[in-house]
Amino acid sequence: MAARLASVFHLVWAAMLGLRIIWWLGHPIADTAMDPTSTFGLLSRLLLTWAITPSYLWMLTRELDAELIRQARQDPLTGVANRRVIWAEGEKWAGTGSRKRQYLAVLIIDIDHFKAVNDNWGHGVGDEVLVGVAHSLAQHMRDEDLLARIGGEEFMALVRHDGPSIDQATDAIRAIAERLRQAIEKDAFALPSGGNLVCTASIGYAISLRGQYQWKDIVEAADGALYDAKRNGRNQVMGSVYEPKAVHAKAD
Ligand code: GH3
Ligand code: MG
Ligand code: MG
Repeated sequence: MAARLASVFHLVWAAMLGLRIIWWLGHPIADTAMDPTSTFGLLSRLLLTWAITPSYLWMLTRELDAELIRQARQDPLTGVANRRVIWAEGEKWAGTGSRKRQYLAVLIIDIDHFKAVNDNWGHGVGDEVLVGVAHSLAQHMRDEDLLARIGGEEFMALVRHDGPSIDQATDAIRAIAERLRQAIEKDAFALPSGGNLVCTASIGYAISLRGQYQWKDIVEAADGALYDAKRNGRNQVMGSVYEPKAVHAKAD
């Protein structure tokens, strides 16, 4: 609305200037005191100081604000969300219950032997591989899910699932995690020196009924599952067999 108003002021101002130019072209030697457009001149100066300059500065500030917000939320290399965003969203989601049976799944995706990619082909290629992996993951996720880069070669996905039971939710989340793992394996990266580089990733996931466990416990459980996937040979998906501490405390 404000931007539209500002553009109307700009147009009015441009029309005033146009009128003055036309008048002076028709009266090149007229006395300035005779100038009937001088009122327009005064009005245009008023418009300039009162409306156009402040609105222009306001729009500039809005643009800078938007850029700052974007930088605070985005991972600069891959363009996906950053750790801060997914943490805030996860805490919000894990903390509040819902009348529907909603499950929250945390998937931690860690590229296998990524250090070797840097060592063999250089950091630049490593960076491009990270961008490619983020792209593959994002392509295989729904719009309502959230993907973030939470560390060097580590990504996190937050997936929500509505369903009647934990078994059904586990099947669905496992299928999503498997799809993500396969996507990374399938999307080979074309090396600048020729040939293809195939990357694999290990994925650990943990699922919680919304409002049941604390966010940090769910993340810890997913991290434990990722550790198991690495120890078990990498390039695989593992679910959490870890029970969050809060549950033990309640059961005791
Ligand atoms: P694992 O299968 O056990 O996960 O082995 P890994 O080599 O992937 O794991 P490790 O933690 O030993 O190494 C991670 C590497 O990721 C080391 C670091 O150089 C690299 N790395 C971290 N951040 C970036 C980045 O922004 N760009 C690039 N190119 N490399 C990065
Ligand atoms: Mg790794
Ligand atoms: Mg790692």
